[in-house]
Amino acid sequence: STRHPERTVAEGHIINTKDQAKGPMMEFSWQERKQNLKRLTEETFDICVIGGGVTGVGLALDAVWRGWKTVLLERRDFSAGTSSRSTKLLHGGLRYLEHFDFSLVREGLVERSILTQIAPHLAEPVPFLVPIYADPRRNYDHPWKMRAGMLLYDLLAGGYGFGRHRRLNREEALKFGPQLDPRGLRGALLYYDGRTDDARLVVEIAKTAHRAGACLLSYAEVSRFLREGQGRVEGVRVRDLLDKDGAEIPCQARIVLNATGVWMGETLQLPGGEGRSLTKTVRPSKGIHLTVAADRLPVEGAWLIPSLTGHRFYFVVPWEGRVNIGTTDTDFTGEKNHPQADKEEVREILAAINAYFPSAQLDREDVLTAWAGLRPLISDPSVKKTTDISRKEEVLETADGVISIAGGKLTTYRRMAEHGIDLAERRLGRKGSSPASTRTRPLCGGEWNRQEFESRAHQIAAEENLSLTSARHLVYRYGSETPRLLELMREDESRRLPLLPDSQLPDLVVEVVYAIEYEMAMTPADVLARRTRLAMLAGEDSLRAAEIVASHLAKRLGWTDAQRVEAIQEYQAEIEHEYLPAVAAEGTTR
Ligand code: FAD
Repeated sequence: STRHPERTVAEGHIINTKDQAKGPMMEFSWQERKQNLKRLTEETFDICVIGGGVTGVGLALDAVWRGWKTVLLERRDFSAGTSSRSTKLLHGGLRYLEHFDFSLVREGLVERSILTQIAPHLAEPVPFLVPIYADPRRNYDHPWKMRAGMLLYDLLAGGYGFGRHRRLNREEALKFGPQLDPRGLRGALLYYDGRTDDARLVVEIAKTAHRAGACLLSYAEVSRFLREGQGRVEGVRVRDLLDKDGAEIPCQARIVLNATGVWMGETLQLPGGEGRSLTKTVRPSKGIHLTVAADRLPVEGAWLIPSLTGHRFYFVVPWEGRVNIGTTDTDFTGEKNHPQADKEEVREILAAINAYFPSAQLDREDVLTAWAGLRPLISDPSVKKTTDISRKEEVLETADGVISIAGGKLTTYRRMAEHGIDLAERRLGRKGSSPASTRTRPLCGGEWNRQEFESRAHQIAAEENLSLTSARHLVYRYGSETPRLLELMREDESRRLPLLPDSQLPDLVVEVVYAIEYEMAMTPADVLARRTRLAMLAGEDSLRAAEIVASHLAKRLGWTDAQRVEAIQEYQAEIEHEYLPAVAAEGTTR
């Protein structure tokens, strides 16, 4: 059998019980990346996943937990595609009720609840509010219709609910949104949904898969399929993008899964594959968000604010000391690697927010960052508007045996993975050695209950002589992984320092070290955009932290001074391109 031997957890390390000679497995770090490159040529895998967004890492975890020997290849960083640019909601999607997509909504609500169990540090129930005005033109929909929707939402959630919806009067509504336009305000409808950190969810799933024995690589681009004649695909060729002179590496696998999101079509067209396109294709739809400081738009809970153009709304979601506002939903045909928010889109969102929160008077200067993501919607060409395309995932198969999985939502990644691996097992002709268990086994960091977070934070603050703010930040972000960060902090006092002094953002230097040693961060953007979220939260200001991050990376990865400087410049170029363009003054990049 090519399945990997049983592994057990001992003292935080995964031990390969059938091959003790190898000793403890290394953490998900830069060192392990080297080992994993070796594994590519030495081993034959059962399942090869292309793409390290939430879909790909979900598939890898499901596969390895079922006992399959699994490899995952991502050409940038984990979550660098769409999966770090979502609204960060765990939801069934109140809006999808309008399309009578009940099973889709129910699935999201169930998954939302499962995540609170398996990753309490990444799933937080949040009240959501919809304002009600006397003037019907100011309402997203008729209040009774909204209320009926929420009733249905509660019913569909059943035992998985976070709390029942209710109607708030005017005064109560103003407590949740002090800057809300009081003129003609009747009250608000309140319901509950979930919030997460999308990029951190991806890295926790990746880490969990790694600890279970999967071989995961970032900056590893799949450049072609391997197959004998017209037979089934039997692996892929991989280019190590961090090795400029490196040769392409063959990677043998019995089944190849394509989880490349909006790049699904391009992946299928890679040389060596069947080359035929599918009847249904990916139709990328762009959505942008703005991030502003919390004191510029103080809100309790998340608000749904009607747009001024067309039947849609913007979410206003408090997050990490900031407020994220979005999103849009427009067909996208541009360059997919680095989508950008346009100035016009930013203006439109600000206009809607100012119409409902007039005393906020938000203008472009208040926008710290504006960022865009591409939804990998799957459709046949007959559907006119992207908003009409179902968010249900699709599992598609080509005659060469490649299985493509796309569409869906961040919230439902676990179900998508289940469907994908179920089909892969049918093609492999047998079940894995372990039962599917993603429903109940915690993700990395998920061993503590959310109810204990406060008391844990207080205890850590007292024992480690940390501020309560820092302790809470660590516990809520890293959950049961926090002790590892504390250990790193005890080794070197300077790691207790804030990463961005004078910014009020609680991120600490120790998180940089943890990202390198435990989360396979290889570049400043990996650390600042996707392990911590400072690129999004601080924008240009995050450049101050890039120096510290680059020197830590240089030390661990053995970079020359020139390489260190180049890495900082690359980070600057990346945030200027992906987070700042729509914020920049006319005619300049900043
Ligand atoms: P991606 O995250 O894009 O991953 C695909 C990966 O494949 C990329 O990392 C890419 O680099 C890699 N890749 C491509 N080609 C290759 C190759 N040749 N070799 C190796 N790797 C390759 N969902 C929710 O549940 N809640 C929300 O609030 C929410 N809000 C959203 C808001 C917006 C604006 C958008 C755009 C989406 C939102 N979604 C939300 C949907 C959710 O974000 C996506 O469904 C999900 O992130 C898609 O993940 P993915 O893994 O399929 O794609």
